[in-house]
Amino acid sequence: MEDTIFGKITRGEIPTDFLYQDEQCVVIKDIYPQAPTHVLIIPRKPIPMLSVADEEDQALLGHLLVVAGKVANQLGVEDAFRLVINNGEGGGQTVFHLHLHILAGRDMKEGELAQGLS
Ligand code: 5GP
Repeated sequence: MEDTIFGKITRGEIPTDFLYQDEQCVVIKDIYPQAPTHVLIIPRKPIPMLSVADEEDQALLGHLLVVAGKVANQLGVEDAFRLVINNGEGGGQTVFHLHLHILAGRDMKEGELAQGLS
């Protein structure tokens, strides 16, 4: 796959503050936040999008969800957040390196699921 900005960030080639990191993923603030809290969980493995992940990625995908919960606690938004994965251009994906969005800090009950991320 083609390299992306998230490839450069996860490899440390673009200096970026990591809110959390481990051997499998990093967590950064979104550069154009769509909510008061908007962070991205990015696996170090450059899977282009969820729809091309396979069984080999199962443990990693589970890990990303566990990290999402931990980071939500770390940020104090564990009672009210939304997790979003945009898949494919038509699904609103702009960076083709799989990532999860955590959105919180505004009313998450109104509107469509991907509000603010289209
Ligand atoms: P997507 O639309 O692919 O689901 O989400 C990509 C997200 O990455 C967008 O919310 C966008 O604001 C964010 N983003 C794009 N480039 C950068 C960057 O260089 N740094 C950071 N921190 N976020 C970025």
